[in-house]
Amino acid sequence: MRWNPYIDLRAERSRAARATCKECGVAIEKGSWRAQAVPILGKPELLHLDCAAQRAPDLAKRKVVDEARDWPPEALAEIARFLPADAHPAPRSYQRTPLTGLSYGKDAYSKPCDYCGVECPGEPGPTHGHAVRAFSLSGEYRFHPVCALELAPGLALRVALEDSERWPAEVKALFKAACEGKVRPTPRSPWRDTAGIPKLHVSPSGRAACRYCREKIGKGELRLGREQLYGMRRSPVYFHVRCFCRSDDFHPKWLELAVVRVDRAEVARGRIEALGAELPPTPEEDDDVPPLLERLLALYDAVPQPAPEEGSEGPRLTENVVEIPRGFFTS
Ligand SMILES: [Zn+2]
Ligand SMILES: [Zn+2]
Ligand SMILES: [Zn+2]
Repeated sequence: MRWNPYIDLRAERSRAARATCKECGVAIEKGSWRAQAVPILGKPELLHLDCAAQRAPDLAKRKVVDEARDWPPEALAEIARFLPADAHPAPRSYQRTPLTGLSYGKDAYSKPCDYCGVECPGEPGPTHGHAVRAFSLSGEYRFHPVCALELAPGLALRVALEDSERWPAEVKALFKAACEGKVRPTPRSPWRDTAGIPKLHVSPSGRAACRYCREKIGKGELRLGREQLYGMRRSPVYFHVRCFCRSDDFHPKWLELAVVRVDRAEVARGRIEALGAELPPTPEEDDDVPPLLERLLALYDAVPQPAPEEGSEGPRLTENVVEIPRGFFTS
């Protein structure tokens, strides 16, 4: 059983000789293909292609199986040679990285749209004459208004309804005409102003309210907690698992990560099984992988429970450190 915290692997030519590989610590030769592994939390990591095949075999296998269009055939052929024989492809929905926000970017120059590949801003007018900046777990993107509309209609409607001065009137009008009455505006991420890795645990009392639906989380119910940042002060915020799954930055890797880190003495296997009713429906494109609930249970069964070492505390909830139980990458 392997697990890794990455949501995507990208291929690129190494531009400088300075970069070292996160897996083996050896320099990545200038001009060679390298992989950029995008974790669910934190900064992308650079890897040799053979090291990427070891560290994220599922994502590498997915690229190879689907002959991914975002990978040059040459790089695909190279990483295919290093794939472990027992690698299973990652769910395709991992690459459906949620957009968490749109903002208006006023740039003097044009760059290709990250969705359609055409110059952006392009032809004057509301559909293509502007650059929309979009934020995602995997970084920042640039889209034509019409492409942003296609990818994130709920966010586009939110822009139209908020009616901020920063957005050109013709873009807001386009968003409004296309979306109003057809989709619901996407609620802002409940994780806004929080940090660290969500923790899955049993609610010790019925006092805390879910930050998303505002209803109390019952004593003994499973909940996800994350720390809220008020300047320097920190206090946790909580969510129902089902509410978290509806937020605009939900990614299945979040739940996998929460299960990898769960305290099995506190959360019994049956509690994970019971999560089935709260999970989102299986995305259409995930037709060749086990459903999310099965993946969560397999993780629960496979995670070695780390014996707490004396005198050493794990990362705090607020630290953006994805701590993987030892040996889990390569077992
Ligand atoms: Zn390496
Ligand atoms: Zn476009
Ligand atoms: Zn809730």
